[in-house]
Amino acid sequence: MYPDARGYFGRYGGRFVPETLIPALDEIEKSYRKLQEDDRFKSQLAAMLKDYAGRPSPLYFASRLSEKLGGARIFLKREDLNHTGSHKINNTLGQALLARYMGKKRLIAETGAGQHGVATATAAAVLGMACTVYMGAKDAERQKLNVFRMQMLGAEVVKVAKGSQTLKDASNEAFRDFIRSFEYSHMVIGSVVGPHPYPMLVRDFQSVIGEELKEQFVQKEGKMPDYIVACVGGGSNAMGIFYPFLSLPEVKLVGVEAGGKGLLPGCHGATLAQGREGVLHGALSLLLQDEHGQVAPTHSLSAGLDYPGVGPEHAFLKETGRAEYVYIRDEEALKAFYELSRLEGIIPALESAHALAYACKLAPRLRPDQSIVVNLSGRGDKDVEQVAGIKEV
Ligand SMILES: *Cc1c(COP(=O)(O)O)cnc(C)c1O
Repeated sequence: MYPDARGYFGRYGGRFVPETLIPALDEIEKSYRKLQEDDRFKSQLAAMLKDYAGRPSPLYFASRLSEKLGGARIFLKREDLNHTGSHKINNTLGQALLARYMGKKRLIAETGAGQHGVATATAAAVLGMACTVYMGAKDAERQKLNVFRMQMLGAEVVKVAKGSQTLKDASNEAFRDFIRSFEYSHMVIGSVVGPHPYPMLVRDFQSVIGEELKEQFVQKEGKMPDYIVACVGGGSNAMGIFYPFLSLPEVKLVGVEAGGKGLLPGCHGATLAQGREGVLHGALSLLLQDEHGQVAPTHSLSAGLDYPGVGPEHAFLKETGRAEYVYIRDEEALKAFYELSRLEGIIPALESAHALAYACKLAPRLRPDQSIVVNLSGRGDKDVEQVAGIKEV
């Protein structure tokens, strides 16, 4: 079972944080392990996921897309239909409820494009907690709508005007707040990254995706899928759909990273393809770095995949070969975005369009009795303005 007692997935993971943060991390881990066995906690979370977030998310057979591509049948796990529009709510509800059971009254989050900030502000509102979201000043300017959303939900948005004024600086400020305030606050990390126990915690809360899929697929098809394909930014939607299938080697797991404009320095976010070992956000994993070991700039059409790190469990799954990692360029993702919109009437998030684009490449190489499940991590409403501004290729 991973992670081990010290929070490692093989060589990756751990806690690379200031000493002052260790008691807070220990407390979260201890409480979580206790609540995992607590029927009241488990049934309350299950009820929220069902009646509030709208789970289970449907498993949809994309017949027109499958027919057009020829080859394997393509299914979509519809995380785009969740409340707030993506898989992120699974994790924020789980962590917020955990925090409340721990007696915490306030949530702290860091956010880049604002999606995780909105999902955290939502969980805080429904559970009656205070919420402070740190966002880089540049990101806040670029993603004004999400700033308004968080404020409407009752959260305080702190715009961080230091350094590059993006996620990295917001993250530093959020950790600083957490160190000062952990007696009454919980920091909600938005992906399977950060110091132990976060990668485990987020994976477990997102595993509801894979658990549901297992049941739904057997019910529909009477067997297991051949491939599961998910996009990888930090890696939480992928880990959530992969995890319940790790012990079934006949199900192939594929993570899709952002190839951006191609694999030149600064032009992509393909951490598993091009990263080297390094520490980011308090854990040892693979990391895009320049020749001096500085965190490298990244690029992706989709804000959610535009991230130089990746969760330690993905680095481990790559090393053991249990999962395969590929990358998709901006223009391929854009093509898949239009394809799904026009063939199935579903506008996907640009992140999810990366997973979809890979499935579109894979399907024609497989037989009609084989199947691919794509984790449709989110809906594209947030991306329509951006896509409308790009000339269709
Ligand atoms: C945030 C986000 C992602 C990337 O995050 P992961 O932790 O890699 O899942 C992917 N898709 C959508 C829709 C997102 O909002």
